[in-house]
Amino acid sequence: MDVHKLHEALEEIYPKMVDIRRDLHQHPELSFEEVRTPQMIADYLTDLGIEVRTEVGGRGVVGTLRGGKEGKTVALRADFDALPIQDEKDVPYKSTVPGTMHACGHDGHTAALLGTATVLAKHREELEGNVVFIHQFAEEVPPGGAKPMVEDGCLDGVDVVFGAHLQSNSPLGNIYAREGYQSAAADMFHIKINGKGGHGAYPHQAIDPVVTASQLVVHLQQIVSRSVDPTESAVLTVGSIQSGDIGNVIPDTAYLKGTIRTFESDIRDLMEKRLKQVTEATCVASGASYEIDYLRGYDPVWNHAEETAYLKEVAADVVGEEKVKEAKVTMGGEDFCYYTQKVPGTFFNVGARLSDPELVYPHHHPRFDFDEKAMLVTAKVFVSAIANINK
Ligand code: MN
Repeated sequence: MDVHKLHEALEEIYPKMVDIRRDLHQHPELSFEEVRTPQMIADYLTDLGIEVRTEVGGRGVVGTLRGGKEGKTVALRADFDALPIQDEKDVPYKSTVPGTMHACGHDGHTAALLGTATVLAKHREELEGNVVFIHQFAEEVPPGGAKPMVEDGCLDGVDVVFGAHLQSNSPLGNIYAREGYQSAAADMFHIKINGKGGHGAYPHQAIDPVVTASQLVVHLQQIVSRSVDPTESAVLTVGSIQSGDIGNVIPDTAYLKGTIRTFESDIRDLMEKRLKQVTEATCVASGASYEIDYLRGYDPVWNHAEETAYLKEVAADVVGEEKVKEAKVTMGGEDFCYYTQKVPGTFFNVGARLSDPELVYPHHHPRFDFDEKAMLVTAKVFVSAIANINK
């Protein structure tokens, strides 16, 4: 396949990608509630003459483009869910749904992948092998859409998988990739401390869950510093602590919510075990009882060495070698992990920073936006990855 011809074709249909992205941006749908989005994707792929499976693993859509020649089967993944955030941007394409917005760029991922499909479908006779377009629901909320989609066969017959994520705070045109861990295992915990309420003036007649909860937050901070090998990575954050309403009343209960991020499975197990031990000991010491819910979230994303090196090589042809950077590992979570657990592949990031610094906001911010040209960069890398894979 002539990559330059394919890239020109992507440039020609770039306005179409922008239209799709803005349409999705105006009609965002929350994780596990997507209806219009998968329908639009299925209709679009069907119009391109691509074989479509809907309701894959729930709300996923999978398109399979069969090439005219023999070759590998490559899967490309884009997620399509939005977030429970009020869109506060001042743009004509802002969300029309109160309290819901595409604040992570998944609309851009979807438009870039549909653009890729548009161009590849037109050149299917020259295509060596097959391309599987994985349009995934519910990335933002564990248990996520990736796992059920893999279980429902979206990777059957697939030799290699690639996925991309836009980055609103990285320069447009840069590509970031790394082999090995890319994102962390993201677990959550909920702890309820049962004390005994009473009058603030008579603490000896009560079991004060506020004091126990306060001690527990501090004790939990010692797990990473004292129990985890310093050459390994782990983080424990208590993001919510709630108890009582009145200054002179000792409440009955206190609630803590937090997250634990790790890479290695033995460290993950250790963090869970120590969290439970420290909670138990702290509560026992104060006479309180407790209930603890430990929820395992996404596994860490692992990028395979060979596929990452390959992706960097094709990305260098698209954006230039100096713009292909080593990605930093992040303690964030991503359910792309379930794809590369099954087949080799890599997950890369695409710089999408707007040129006006006043408009640059982080992901999940009510004013989040990105430079749409990054969709064209993403699609070009996807197309190059497909065109060169059988060489
Ligand atoms: Mn995201």
